[in-house]
Formats: sequence, C-alpha cells, structure tokens
Amino acid sequence: MAYKFIDNYRERGARKQLVELLKRRGIADKKVLEAIGKVPRHYFFDETFWNQAYKDIAFPIGDGQTISQPYTVAYQTELLHIRPGDKVLEIGTGSGYQTCILMELGAEVYTIERQANLYNRTIQVLPYMGYKPHFFLGDGSKGIPDHAPYDKILVTAGAPFVPEVMLKQLRIGGVMVIPVGSEKEQKMVTILRIGEQEYERIELDTFRFVPLVGDQAW
Ligand code: SAM
Repeated sequence: MAYKFIDNYRERGARKQLVELLKRRGIADKKVLEAIGKVPRHYFFDETFWNQAYKDIAFPIGDGQTISQPYTVAYQTELLHIRPGDKVLEIGTGSGYQTCILMELGAEVYTIERQANLYNRTIQVLPYMGYKPHFFLGDGSKGIPDHAPYDKILVTAGAPFVPEVMLKQLRIGGVMVIPVGSEKEQKMVTILRIGEQEYERIELDTFRFVPLVGDQAW
C-alpha cells in the first residue's frame, strides 16, 4: 500500500461533515468529537480509497481486518471517559486510528496487535503522524500484565467472554469497554472496577466486530 500524507480542504471538509453526522447519531462528548475532527482518517487508506475515508463505515485494511466504523470508535471512546494522563490499554491496534483518537484526548496508550503486518505498518505510520504510543505485537487477550494497572482498557475486537486476567489489570476505579457475544454480533459491555473483587457491569447496544482471537478468546 502506498501512503500519502496530504490533508487538503476536501478531506478537512469531509471530516467536518463526519463530525456533524456523528452528532446526529448521538455522540455528545465534545472532546471526542473534536478528536474525530482532528485525526486525518484518510491517512489510514490507500489514496485510491480516500473518498471512502469519511463515510461512517468500517473498511478493509488487509489481513482480513477492518478499520472500525467512526461511530463505533466514537461510541467506545465516549464510554471510556478519557482524562488527560490516563494510562490506557488498547487490545487490537488494527490501523491505529482508534489509538490516535485516544492520544488526542491526552491518554498514554499501550496498544497491542496480534497480526505482524498490521503491527509493522502502525509502528511506521503513527510516529510519522506524530503519535507515539507504546506498541506491542502479540496476543492481547491476556492483556499486558507487565505494564498493569491501567486506568482504562479498550478491546476493539469481539470477545466470547470477559477475560478474567484482563479484569485484574484494571485499576480500582478504572473502566473497561469490551464487545462480548457470538462471532456474529456482540453487546458493548462496560465494566467499572469498584473494589478488589467487585465490578459493576453494564450491557449496552449491539455491534459487529471481527473476533478477538487468542488464548483468552476465540
Ligand atoms: N480500532 C482499530 C482501528 O481503528 O483500526 C480496529 C481494530 S479491528 C476491528 C480489531 C483488531 O484486533 C484487528 O486488527 C485484529 O487483528 C486484532 N486482534 C484480534 N485478536 C487480537 C488479540 N488477541 N490480540 C491483539 N489484537 C487482536
């Protein structure tokens, strides 16, 4: 894939329209909308497909994976209530677009991807764009225990259950957002850790994610 990094009036205009569309779809957090308005999503696409970059759709990024739909990215990010300085674990780097959104909100991001091709692409593209998260290659279904605890944990692939080992890496008072269900569709689940052994779980809307594949997953 050939990359080109030019953000001209056409792309900036399309990005503004995307923000307006997300507002109409119910995304209310101003900071999340601002972040969507800042990150050039077309940088994650081959130039041939730039006309698809600001549609509210998921799009193939190779290796059978997708860049998440902007609405889904905004929805998950809103649920995390990111505060500047939050230490965030992201499972499923994919294109790296969601990572950039988290970083625009001031998070320090630990992001892990199991597919080497995607990992190798993001470790080049994101720093070039000015984003420097902590990158990891491997099975994120077990979290990244060496760097725990995290203020927030975000899973961007569909899990069959909430991995216990990942829950333990959440700081008390921290929030996890994870889609849980079948391989076909999942409920968005938020989990607040309220004590050493106590968690509060809320199930929200239905989404369709690519599967979380690994030791504590499919
Ligand atoms: N948020 C990403 C973006 O904006 O591009 C999209 C993520 S994509 C929907 C889900 C990603 O999770 C895929 O890149 C997939 O390879 C990755 N994945 C699946 N299972 C994983 C695992 N156990 N550990 C790490 N990454 C995993």
